[in-house]
Amino acid sequence: MEKIANYINGELLAPVAGKYIDNYNPALGEVYSLIPDSDEQDIENAYKAAAAAAQAWGNTQAEERFRILNRIADLIDRDLDQLAMAESTDNGKPVKLAKTVDIPRASSNMRFFATSILHFANEAHGMEDRGFNYTLRQPIGVVGCISPWNLPLYLFTWKIAPALATGNAVVAKPSEVTPYTAYLFSKLCIEAGLPKGVLNIVHGLGGKVGSAITKHPRIKAISFTGGTVTGAEIARVAAPMFKKLSLELGGKNPNIIFADCDFDKMMSTTMRSSFANQGQICLCGSRIYVQRPIYEKFRDEFVKRTEAMRVVDPSDEKSQMGAIVSQGHIDKVMSYIELAKEEGGKVIAGGTRVQMDGKFSKGYFMRPTIIEGLPHTCRTNQEEIFGPIVTIQPFDTEEEALEYANSTQYGLAATVWTQDVNKAHRVATKLESGIVWINCWLVRDLRTPFGGVKSSGVGREGGFEALRFFTEAKNVCVNLS
Ligand code: NDP
Repeated sequence: MEKIANYINGELLAPVAGKYIDNYNPALGEVYSLIPDSDEQDIENAYKAAAAAAQAWGNTQAEERFRILNRIADLIDRDLDQLAMAESTDNGKPVKLAKTVDIPRASSNMRFFATSILHFANEAHGMEDRGFNYTLRQPIGVVGCISPWNLPLYLFTWKIAPALATGNAVVAKPSEVTPYTAYLFSKLCIEAGLPKGVLNIVHGLGGKVGSAITKHPRIKAISFTGGTVTGAEIARVAAPMFKKLSLELGGKNPNIIFADCDFDKMMSTTMRSSFANQGQICLCGSRIYVQRPIYEKFRDEFVKRTEAMRVVDPSDEKSQMGAIVSQGHIDKVMSYIELAKEEGGKVIAGGTRVQMDGKFSKGYFMRPTIIEGLPHTCRTNQEEIFGPIVTIQPFDTEEEALEYANSTQYGLAATVWTQDVNKAHRVATKLESGIVWINCWLVRDLRTPFGGVKSSGVGREGGFEALRFFTEAKNVCVNLS
């Protein structure tokens, strides 16, 4: 069976302790490769390699960093098909989604931050004839990047690219559930000529490898994307060491659909925002609030389209829904259907697992599910499920929609559907959310600030926000008198 390797000091290495954990193909429900079960020794080796490389990399001309990151992007583009199939096998997502979203975005992340470092400028503050200040933005040194399983290479590169572009050395950990494309990525970094030690990728369990990164006293910043509970634990450990923290956490995103929306456009986008990637995107809208005059029309069409979705082998180009990422996760997601029923909800589409034939008979498949009849305050509507389950609920007034939308501890993303420009902007202003999409969903401009409010996170990624996070600002004051 294939063994995935760590990438430390420019080499592909086995874990020091020689231990491995199983890596599952979720569509087959079978182990298909082995992941290093790394520990603190591997992180220490990765840290030492990063520390040795940090100064030279930080002093490299921005043009040279641009050139190498851009070359990595070219190699991702070259290997699009292989990387997309690997992502689909490892995660269970439809290969078409990986080919059109995940892998192209990984390459865009590298290219975007490669070029943005060429345009990143420092500020100056004049003090009339007394003098002036200028601000240097210098690399932090060695930083840690920890990413989740839902958009594996996409989110991994979203952190690594700005960290490297700003001249930091990185110790990174992909999710233990989906490590494979990060492993392929390490081979591309070697091929692209990334100097040894600049990026180190250590595979393994969150509680061992992730926590060793977080508590390492000399890893000075942590950029983390994952669940809110894990984020709180990282903050607890890192805060006393005064580490810089960027935390992109969970969500329970509302879709507010007003009666005056463009119905067809809203409906096709709502299908995607509900079930893309099996509902396992932090930005998916899982609470759908529909204004009463169109509630029944919406419900009937939504149920019809949801029941027609093809849940098939994710490597089939026609697959619209693949497998849920793991046995543990499908158990959790299915338990929310039982909870919703206990809370008085009615399952109006899906609600069951899908038993596939042949080699997929042990795979983790379920039907996209719609539940109605629940109040916005119940657990099903307050807790993050992170699967293909949405609830729908009618509302009458704008105030009521806002009350429902803002009622959870989360505040990552929201969508608003209306043709009334004033109403759209008014509602966007009042939503407690880091991101609001008006008459669209998941339209991304990588220059914009990305992140959540409340329990959805601290800090912003994207554009110059990420470059600022991965640098220390130093003010230099010059006296002219
Ligand atoms: P987790 O929080 O379980 O894990 C995220 C990463 O942290 C994984 O690499 C994990 O390793 C690691 N980890 C786990 N425990 C620790 C620890 N104690 N210290 C350091 N690292 C640790 O999240 P999931 O992987 O389950 O991802 C799903 C979650 O991510 C959802 O809540 C989703 O909303 C959120 N998310 C947020 C996004 C955003 O931009 N706000 C985007 C995408 C997802 P391991 O895999 O080995 O457990």
